[in-house]
Amino acid sequence: MTSIETHPVDAADPQRSIHQRSKGVLFCPACGHESPVGGDWHVELTGDTRTRRCPDCRTVVSDR
Ligand SMILES: [Zn+2]
Repeated sequence: MTSIETHPVDAADPQRSIHQRSKGVLFCPACGHESPVGGDWHVELTGDTRTRRCPDCRTVVSDR
């Protein structure tokens, strides 16, 4: 039986790694602004809902 090596492809696929580069880092889908979850996002609290907006372009950024 031949041994099959499995390599993580996170660094080989840029389109994939941009979203999985680091947990806890959010990306603005509109302008590409990136910052940690607790970074410089504008956080709005509406009831129990927490909404983060990009400080650059005001786009709502989802953390899920
Ligand atoms: Zn933005």
